[in-house]
Amino acid sequence: MHEWYEEGLRFSCTQCGNCCTGPPGAVWFNDTEGRAMAKKLGIEVAAFYKQYAHKIGSKWSLREHEIEGKFDCVFLDRSSEKPSCKLYSSRPLQCRTWPFWKENLRSPEAWAQAKQATPCAGMNTGKLIPIEEIRIQRGLTS
Ligand code: SF4
Repeated sequence: MHEWYEEGLRFSCTQCGNCCTGPPGAVWFNDTEGRAMAKKLGIEVAAFYKQYAHKIGSKWSLREHEIEGKFDCVFLDRSSEKPSCKLYSSRPLQCRTWPFWKENLRSPEAWAQAKQATPCAGMNTGKLIPIEEIRIQRGLTS
């Protein structure tokens, strides 16, 4: 398969928080990640699911808060100048692998669209991520 990004892609997160908000969406996580997030928060797993998660179809997603028409991830912390993730070190794979998702890598147009729609200031700038690394990240998500 030819990968249009064989020269790598530039990406350095500026921590704008835009990928943690926007139109209603889903932040998928699996059981292991659910347990890790509960542990990070210092609460029981059952309490974590009850308070912070909801089921969409057969899969679990983190909840969102609607703020001024935008849907923030429940763990997006806007209390300081730069938004941050309340459980950054335990965040799910979906968050760790952004923006190297299969759907964003489908074509240069899909990549540009993801950058614009988010909008993600970190895409196409900063560190050059080699194709080997992109392939790993791409392979981690469905
Ligand atoms: S939108 Fe891009 S630059 Fe902003 S926090 Fe997310 S990854 Fe970082």
